[in-house]
Amino acid sequence: MRKLFDKLYNKSAESFHTIMKSNLKKDKKMFIVTANPETFMMSENDDEMRELLLDKESILVPDGIGIVKAARSIGYNIEERITGIDIASKLLEYGNEEKKSIYLFGAKEEVIDSMKDVLMDKYSNLKIVGAVDGYVKDRDKVFEDIKKTKPDIVLVALGIPYQEKLIYKHIKDFNKGIFVGVGGSFDVISGHKKRAPKLFIKLNLEWLYRIIKEPKRLKRFYDSNVKFLFKVKKYKDK
Ligand code: UDP
Repeated sequence: MRKLFDKLYNKSAESFHTIMKSNLKKDKKMFIVTANPETFMMSENDDEMRELLLDKESILVPDGIGIVKAARSIGYNIEERITGIDIASKLLEYGNEEKKSIYLFGAKEEVIDSMKDVLMDKYSNLKIVGAVDGYVKDRDKVFEDIKKTKPDIVLVALGIPYQEKLIYKHIKDFNKGIFVGVGGSFDVISGHKKRAPKLFIKLNLEWLYRIIKEPKRLKRFYDSNVKFLFKVKKYKDK
C-alpha cells in the first residue's frame, strides 16, 4: 500500500483542476481515480485493482479525508482533499467553456435523465454524445459505443471498483478523453441527493453525513476504514 501513498497527488485541488483543464484543451488522455480508504484496501486482495491503481497512466487523488489524514500521519505532505464531485463539476464547467463533448454512463435512469436536463440548462455548450444509465446488462457494450463517439470527457458513475475496472479495461482503445469514475456524483449534481451541508464538509465530516443519510453504508465504512487504520498504524510503528 506504500506505493499507493507514493502515487497520491499531493498539491492543491485548484492546481489539479488546472491540470485537468489543460489536458482537456490539449486532448491529452487522462485517467483519474478518486481514492478513499476503501479503494486502498481493495488493492490488498484484488489484483486487478492493484494493477490499475499502480499503473503509470492512472492518477490517484485523495478524495476521502481518511486518506489525507493517514498519509500525513506517515509523513506524506498532502495538501488537501480533491473530491470526485468537485472534479465532475469542474469538468462540466471546463467542457462547457471549451465546447467539448461528454459521455455520461451510470446511475439510475431518472438520474441520468435529470443530468441531461441540467447539462442542457447550465452547460449548453457541452455536447452530450451519450447518456446511459448504470443498470444496463452489458457494460462493455456501452463502452463500445463510447469508443465510437470519441468523447472529450467520460464520466462513469457505477461505484468503486466497477467504474475504475471498466475504464481501465477499455482506455487503451482511446486516443483522448478525460476518464473519471465519479461514484454518486450524478445523484448529487442532478439534485436527486443532497451533498452534505457546508459545515460538515468544512469539518471533514462528509463521510458521517453520508452514513446518517444512508445507514446501510455503515458496514462498508466500518469494514474498510478500521482495517485501513490498522494497516496505516503498522507503517507508523515501523
Ligand atoms: N450504480 C449503477 N449501477 C449499479 C450500481 C450502482 O449505476 O449497478 C450507481 C448508483 O446509482 C450510484 C453510483 O452507482 O449513482 C454509486 O454511488 P455511491 O454513492 O454508492 O458511490 P461511492 O462514491 O460511494 O462509491
